[in-house]
Amino acid sequence: MNEQRVDVWADHPKDVAWVCPHCTKRLPLYDHAEERTWRHLDSCQFQTHLHARIPRVACGEHGVVQVTVPWAEPRSRFTLLFERLAIDVLRQCDVSGATRIVRISWDEAWGGMQRAVARGRARKRARIVPRIGVDEKAAAKGHR
Ligand SMILES: [Zn+2]
Repeated sequence: MNEQRVDVWADHPKDVAWVCPHCTKRLPLYDHAEERTWRHLDSCQFQTHLHARIPRVACGEHGVVQVTVPWAEPRSRFTLLFERLAIDVLRQCDVSGATRIVRISWDEAWGGMQRAVARGRARKRARIVPRIGVDEKAAAKGHR
């Protein structure tokens, strides 16, 4: 209550098969990585933090690797739902305003924007542009 914070720990049942993130082969649990924490959507006015030890598998082809968790991108400190909220806020106001509303640092907001742009660019497919415009006056001055 004093910290205005909710902490949630995720675990899994025993004897669950996991999937190698590289080849999607189903494998038994090898071990767990060290505990990580992700900022999640607030619970009422409390910041909510999700804790988990991500399972690892021993793939014959790819070695010992962490499985992919459904709630976050690899190496992100935020859940996908929290990052979605932060991006929605960032689309409505500047970075400084967003940091105050969602209570993250400027670097965290900027990092979230960069990941969102990378996701958007990855979804785009290359295509031939049907029309382009040329500034003939600038071209005449030597601009390329
Ligand atoms: Zn594999």
